[in-house]
Amino acid sequence: MDQRKKEAVFSYIDQEKQKIIQRGDDFFHCAELGFREIKTQQMICQALEEMGIPYEKTAQTGVAASLGTGSSYHIGLTCDIDALPDGKGGTIHSCGHSIQTAAGLTVLEALQKTNVLAETDGKVTVFFTPAEEFIDFAYRDQLIAEGKIRSRSGKQDMILSGVFDGVDCILSCHANGEAEARFDIGSTLAGFLAKKAVFHGTASHSGAAAHLGKNALHGAVLCQNAIAFLKDQFPPEAGIRLHPVLTSCSGDVNTIPDQAVLEMYLRANTQEILLDCDARLNQCIHNCGQALGLDVTVENTPGYLPLAQSKKINAVVEKNMRLFCRGEEDIIHGPVSGASGDVGDLGYLIPTVQFGFSGIQGRFHSDQFAVIDPENCYIRTAKILCGTILDLFAQKELRDYPVSYEEKKAWYCKDWLKCTAKIS
Ligand SMILES: [Zn+2]
Ligand SMILES: [Zn+2]
Repeated sequence: MDQRKKEAVFSYIDQEKQKIIQRGDDFFHCAELGFREIKTQQMICQALEEMGIPYEKTAQTGVAASLGTGSSYHIGLTCDIDALPDGKGGTIHSCGHSIQTAAGLTVLEALQKTNVLAETDGKVTVFFTPAEEFIDFAYRDQLIAEGKIRSRSGKQDMILSGVFDGVDCILSCHANGEAEARFDIGSTLAGFLAKKAVFHGTASHSGAAAHLGKNALHGAVLCQNAIAFLKDQFPPEAGIRLHPVLTSCSGDVNTIPDQAVLEMYLRANTQEILLDCDARLNQCIHNCGQALGLDVTVENTPGYLPLAQSKKINAVVEKNMRLFCRGEEDIIHGPVSGASGDVGDLGYLIPTVQFGFSGIQGRFHSDQFAVIDPENCYIRTAKILCGTILDLFAQKELRDYPVSYEEKKAWYCKDWLKCTAKIS
């Protein structure tokens, strides 16, 4: 029974192959930056209307569309929709998010046209999520000030608005840069935060009365050394990447500087290490300032949390992935990635997976990026997602559920994002 449903969905996808690839191409050529995906949103909504699938707009330029009416298990599929600057004044889909957008529509269409969800006890919602790339802050901060969004990333905004409340698991996929293997599973994604440390001292004549001043630059230099030594205390697998930059310093050659600013990104592979390193980093900053009698202020800006994947859901994904592999060598297990994504934030709250698919030529985030294997990008990927959804609906024992969602969301909103706006 289960198998028959899968076969129906897979053959529908094969039958519609040309249309699906064409749609992927159309989205690839509609490249818009985060929270500016106006045309992309229109194209998604139009496709959903043609399919007769109800949807809601969310997070300024996002869309959420559901199939199935059951309440026992709610599967979410997140599909990024935003593009990047091409370095020449234009935009380009150089992270492959257009492939995800197309995949989300393929999954909805295939599940609906084959009517395979008719007797399920759950529902599936595809979330077309804007603004995954963490860029363009002036525009996004303006939107926040105008009350149009609540955070700089699409998924963060949707978490804050309660869009993911009640979702039991999250599926997602992302293009990878692999040349040989078709897929990867269980990849890490680093988490990060931005930190700005300001050392405040006392200005004074650097020749006549240097001893009456307090050199803020000395605090920053001492701190840069402490940070270099701190990094030594973490093992390589912690993925600590921390490179403080002196972004401003007052004074001139005849004046003791009274202010020095160190800015840095802190990256780590797990949430525990990220928070631990952050606490120790703050100690370095404060203690270095204190050692020289300087005042110090520290400002944190949250980025994305590291991705922790659901092993249980990944087992289901892998089973379906194997249907489309030539052999063991087609799946890379647990690659370590220095990249980050706002899917990491979802992974903290809800059991989440993100598998990778190959089929790309050219560097990511460059104007060389191109889809060269549409079969892998658009066809096999959509089949894996549909197969996983059908398995999760058919076999309750395969499911994974959120643990302490409300508690975690409260920490996430107040302590991590430091969002003071009322949480719905
Ligand atoms: Zn990217
Ligand atoms: Zn991306």
